[in-house]
Amino acid sequence: MPIKDDYASYLKRQKQFQEKPIAKYWTEQEARYVEPFQIFGNLYYVGDSWVCVHLVDTGDGLLLFDAGNCGAEAMLIHSIWEMGFRPQDVKWIILSHGHVDHFGAAPFFRKMFGTKIYLGQPDAEMFRTAPEQSMIQESSSCMDMLFEADHEIEEGEILIFGNTSIQFYLVPGHTRGCISCFFNVTDGISVKRAGYYGGFGFNTLQKDFLLEIGDIKLEARKVYLNSIDKVISQKVDIFMGNHASNVNLLKKRQYMLEHPGKNPFLDSESWRNYLEQKKQELLDLEKSDNL
Ligand SMILES: [Zn+2]
Repeated sequence: MPIKDDYASYLKRQKQFQEKPIAKYWTEQEARYVEPFQIFGNLYYVGDSWVCVHLVDTGDGLLLFDAGNCGAEAMLIHSIWEMGFRPQDVKWIILSHGHVDHFGAAPFFRKMFGTKIYLGQPDAEMFRTAPEQSMIQESSSCMDMLFEADHEIEEGEILIFGNTSIQFYLVPGHTRGCISCFFNVTDGISVKRAGYYGGFGFNTLQKDFLLEIGDIKLEARKVYLNSIDKVISQKVDIFMGNHASNVNLLKKRQYMLEHPGKNPFLDSESWRNYLEQKKQELLDLEKSDNL
């Protein structure tokens, strides 16, 4: 296509995108701003009101879980500074899965600071073979791009980041390469076990979506339920979701501010309860599809 037409078509797509209500959330980072805070010990929150980003101070470099939504670069730099850390010390980014609203600033961190990017192997494969399933075409941020991960996470791997050892599982369902993982965090007095689950959304489990990507038997739903069963019995003191709504993050943060000394993030029931709830919701979706 001649360059002039190409640019005109780009402008048209931009305009169409900005007219979608969702664009507000994808482009107006300020509208989603959350003041960063310490969750417990060496675990911090530097994400926004929609998409979580967790920071772990490993004693020998910083680790991020996810890299924010499209256009999250400035927010992350700001929030990491605000917590008293240096963005250039972010050595590793572990991605919950390969959707654009979670890997937003990852290529930027790698370019700027040499950060290594970790992604579940099946989603790294998805980038190579079905890049449109990353949803990158939904983003209007010029910073977004696909990338080769530095490390493709495999089922059952244990990886060491500074003083933090992390046990990984693959929990396919929302995407094929969602990861779940478990590790200890500490405030220097007590040790708590954090549990992360990298993708609950049903947007990729809707019948139309699955048929379009060739999953004609809707197998992904069965896979989703099996993945939850794989990790639901893990002991988890601090449940880390990858969207703020998974863990009622804003409510818990508000409670913390109003009740100094109390920490609602320490809750050994919420992991199991939420995973059970998602199983039930998926079974309900199946039922309503079959009506
Ligand atoms: Zn997703």
